Amino acid sequence: MQRLTLIIPCYNEEDVLPKLFQRVDAVAATWGMDYEIICVDDGSRDLTWEMLKAQNAKDTRWRCLSFARNFGHQTAVSAGLYFASGDAVVIIDADLQDPPEEISRLLAKWRDGFEVVFATRKKRQDPLLKRILAWGFYRLLQRMTPLPMTRDSGDFCLLDKKVVVVMNALPERSRYLRGLRTWCGFRQASVVFDRAERAAGLPQYTFTKSFNLAMDGLFSFSAAPLRMATYLGLWVSAFAFLGVVFTFVQKIFAEQFGRIGLAPGAGFPTIVISVLFLGGVQLICVGILGEYIGRIYEEVKGRPLWIIRDSVGVVPPEGK
Ligand code: UDP
Ligand code: MG
Repeated sequence: MQRLTLIIPCYNEEDVLPKLFQRVDAVAATWGMDYEIICVDDGSRDLTWEMLKAQNAKDTRWRCLSFARNFGHQTAVSAGLYFASGDAVVIIDADLQDPPEEISRLLAKWRDGFEVVFATRKKRQDPLLKRILAWGFYRLLQRMTPLPMTRDSGDFCLLDKKVVVVMNALPERSRYLRGLRTWCGFRQASVVFDRAERAAGLPQYTFTKSFNLAMDGLFSFSAAPLRMATYLGLWVSAFAFLGVVFTFVQKIFAEQFGRIGLAPGAGFPTIVISVLFLGGVQLICVGILGEYIGRIYEEVKGRPLWIIRDSVGVVPPEGK
């Protein structure tokens, strides 16, 4: 019998877990597959870990592991992928924003022969600012990378075992999973769904975390910002050159310029403005370099992606 692995990253989700257990158990019976559920406790400070362990005591198909500290959502999912043993793997949020009822639709596509089935959000129930920023980000990313990045789809998806093997072999630390998923290729399909509101508890993705994720997406999948720095430099130089020409002409035809109110002045504001402008451009370019160098530094250190504090029922994959 084929097996499905469900990966659920959990960070301080004690409020939502009882509902999650109930809803997932209710739909699991309809999958017609053997299944395991791997909950990754991403260093929660509430009762998440105790509740996960209790669930495993009730039903050993619920397995869990806990990180030594908060490593972040993408890392939690990566750990889940590493330990997954299913023929198909589904990634879902703990807060029930991705309805577990939709998993059967992902499975249907998988049975049709698609190896990556991702869910595209029709409606987002998030705050307005987050919706606007997400909208802008996905479109910007699409323009800046040659990969066919998907818009408005989160991490809720199904991956065939073949794709999981490839993803697990990718060594990079900045794990923008939606990008890696696209990068892998294979036959991809999407399923449209309405993203629900959080069932309980508070969002664990702070603005900073979302921003960092967006930066990872951008800088790990596109070298366009580097080129942008070059273009910016070229434009500013061209502009400055025009300024030089203008100043010369202005000096030569001082009288005529004076008549239309453009007599050469003491030049103080011009200097201040150009110094500030150039300073700004230089800082932007240094910042862009920094984004890449920072990522190189993280990769070079080669530290493990996560540290496991405890686990129940999760077996390391064969040969690892
Ligand atoms: N999450 C996590 N580690 C974190 C932040 C979030 O594992 O540092 C999990 C969280 O428990 C949830 C999922 O990632 O299952 C999505 O988080 P959240 O609902 O807060 O994000 P949003 O839906 O607002 O993007
Ligand atoms: Mg959420």
